[in-house]
Amino acid sequence: MALEPKYIFRTGQDYISKYTNKILQKSSNHCLLPLTSKVVNNDYLEIGECNIKNLVEQFGSPLYVLDEITLRTSCRQYRDSFNLYYEGPSQVIYASKAWSCLSVIGVIATENLGFDVVSGGELYTAQIAMSKLGYSKLEIANKIYFHGNNKSLDELRLAINSNCNIVVDNWLELQSLVKLGNDLPEKSIRILLRLTPEIECHTHEYIKTGHLDSKFGFSLNDFEAVINYVIKQKVLDCLGLHSHIGSQIFEKQPHHDLAFILVKWFKKAQELGLILSELNIGGGLGISYTHSDDPPSIEEWVKTVSESVMEACMENNLSFPKLIAEPGRSLIGSACITAYTIGSRKEIPGLCTYLAIDGGMSDNPRPITYKSLYSVLIGNKMSKKITETFTIAGKHCESGDIIIKDAQLPQTRTGDILVVMGTGAYNYSMASNYNRIPRPAAVLVNHGEASLIVRRETYDDLVRQDCLPQRLLPDCLL
Ligand SMILES: *Cc1c(COP(=O)(O)O)cnc(C)c1O
Repeated sequence: MALEPKYIFRTGQDYISKYTNKILQKSSNHCLLPLTSKVVNNDYLEIGECNIKNLVEQFGSPLYVLDEITLRTSCRQYRDSFNLYYEGPSQVIYASKAWSCLSVIGVIATENLGFDVVSGGELYTAQIAMSKLGYSKLEIANKIYFHGNNKSLDELRLAINSNCNIVVDNWLELQSLVKLGNDLPEKSIRILLRLTPEIECHTHEYIKTGHLDSKFGFSLNDFEAVINYVIKQKVLDCLGLHSHIGSQIFEKQPHHDLAFILVKWFKKAQELGLILSELNIGGGLGISYTHSDDPPSIEEWVKTVSESVMEACMENNLSFPKLIAEPGRSLIGSACITAYTIGSRKEIPGLCTYLAIDGGMSDNPRPITYKSLYSVLIGNKMSKKITETFTIAGKHCESGDIIIKDAQLPQTRTGDILVVMGTGAYNYSMASNYNRIPRPAAVLVNHGEASLIVRRETYDDLVRQDCLPQRLLPDCLL
């Protein structure tokens, strides 16, 4: 279909020049493409000095392409901003549910970040990655925070054995920990308490977790009883309070308010006789998925959080606690793109033209789950004029399997490489094998080197967990 004049991108190249010019001054969560993106040979997208066409030829399609420099830059932007704005100690931890695999954990660990894990599997992944990189058991334990609103007894045992920090969500968990801990002589279990801060954020649609009727955390009405209970338990070493209010947040006010609420309860705990030292403000900073998204920069967000916590502490005569933030999306979202190959095409005159790709909701379930928007370009036609609007459809058996409804692209044909931007967070980690489609490979690119970090699944992988009981087999085979 003909393109309306309002669009600001004339070519794929514009996505780079508009957003990624001054690499290190730019907050990575503002960039639609990874920071190292360039156009080479006139028409090809290059990320981490690797040509997208070569990547697809070498590693196949679809392919997640993760840019190491962007990922490291986001880590540094968080770390450096806390050092600049917060006058107490601080620790940034990566919410690994955004994308948990050995290499992602490995890169982030070497930037001195810690990890937020929400399951035994994420805990295991973080532990294995860090120990392969040579971190001691003690360092690993201190840097991991275990979240979750319904940790199983097995998960709690794993957490206790690993000595990591446990962010306790509810009474059942608190009591289970005491029971498990009392069976282990001399054990001290480091915990934080997750609170429901009763914060609503009105201006944006996102996954809220801090509102009054949220499933997460202790309700504030229970606070006094919880603290009194915790004080009596020798086995528990309560370090502080935690709250996480939601994801893809573009306002700064909710985190400002959250800081004041958490500090108020910090003070309250002190009055009840429990001296705390850590305050964990959660994550939630948004990223730009399209040119109309305008989240605060990482630096602005950290400044708001830091100043609010310090101001609230001064009002309450508290010394500055160790401040912990746990970003997921804003650390890794913009560092990755997904490359697909365009296949079939269907034109419905006067309505729309579908372009079908070789992946879809199995490697990126966000559009069908949250109606999320994305930006796209053709990775092998970066200088061609954008002239058409397409609907990009996945290959799954659902009409809702649409990655983007009104993609503005140059003239395209079968075999072109479609690049979906901003797929680092909650894509691979939420991927499935729906329609028995093997999950794609992922590569980490840097300085012209592309390293496989997740192998593409094979058909054998798909049947690996399947069992065929003998009684289903014909007698002749028994
Ligand atoms: C998901 C989650 C985060 C990270 O959220 P982002 O929006 O990805 O930054 C942090 N803390 C907790 C407890 C979470 O559940």
